[in-house]
Amino acid sequence: MLDLVYPPGLYCICCGKIIDDSRAYRLCNDCMKSMNWNTGRSCSKCGRPLAETDPGELCFGCAQREASGRPYSFDAGHACTGYGACEQSVIFALKYGGRADIGDTLGEILYDFMLSGYGADELAAGYDIVTAVPIHGDKRKKRGFNHAELIGRSFAKRAGLPFDPGMLVRTRGTLPMKGLGPEERRANIRGAFEIRNSRLPMIQGSGILLIDDIFTTGSTIDEIASLLKSHGAERVDFLAFSAAGDMII
Ligand SMILES: [Zn+2]
Ligand SMILES: [Zn+2]
Repeated sequence: MLDLVYPPGLYCICCGKIIDDSRAYRLCNDCMKSMNWNTGRSCSKCGRPLAETDPGELCFGCAQREASGRPYSFDAGHACTGYGACEQSVIFALKYGGRADIGDTLGEILYDFMLSGYGADELAAGYDIVTAVPIHGDKRKKRGFNHAELIGRSFAKRAGLPFDPGMLVRTRGTLPMKGLGPEERRANIRGAFEIRNSRLPMIQGSGILLIDDIFTTGSTIDEIASLLKSHGAERVDFLAFSAAGDMII
């Protein structure tokens, strides 16, 4: 009902300013400019933006991981933006403000971002399955939806890729990663996910693209990638709307 009176398309999804419906991604000009679009070089492993002064292909964290012999389990990550104030307000509106409609817009952003690096056909042939990082049942009940699933569904539809939101199950809640050390983070997330038995055959030898809203410590994506690979997945990449800087390895 409220959507009829105040169509969500009339307002910038970031600052709420009135816009017209010709604006890309439902962002006003100011917010479009304020987004930290990841258009420059990025880490070939985790997708975080690289500073022009960063040597090589890897960010500091990934280089440290490689050097210490425990690289991330996923193959490659992509993030459309760096995490700043605008990205945060869009993600918060989706996750905590009940704005499920933003999931579709973020899926559109993810798709356009991937098209900047791959042809549409190449992208459609690049993965066997797209899935989303699951949230715990309690959270889903409270929120009414899994935000990553909304983003993933919109992306997969545009990319022409099969979407399976039910591949993974989150078996328990976890503590916020902020403030935890590297070992605590791993312990916090270890065993928090399971693969549905019915999906095990299709994972064997497959290329999987995992969708999430934000890549922060990498612990969650890493845990899922390691689980999928231990069940025979050949390649696991991830695609997130935003990536936050994180020096903890
Ligand atoms: Zn705005
Ligand atoms: Zn990296």
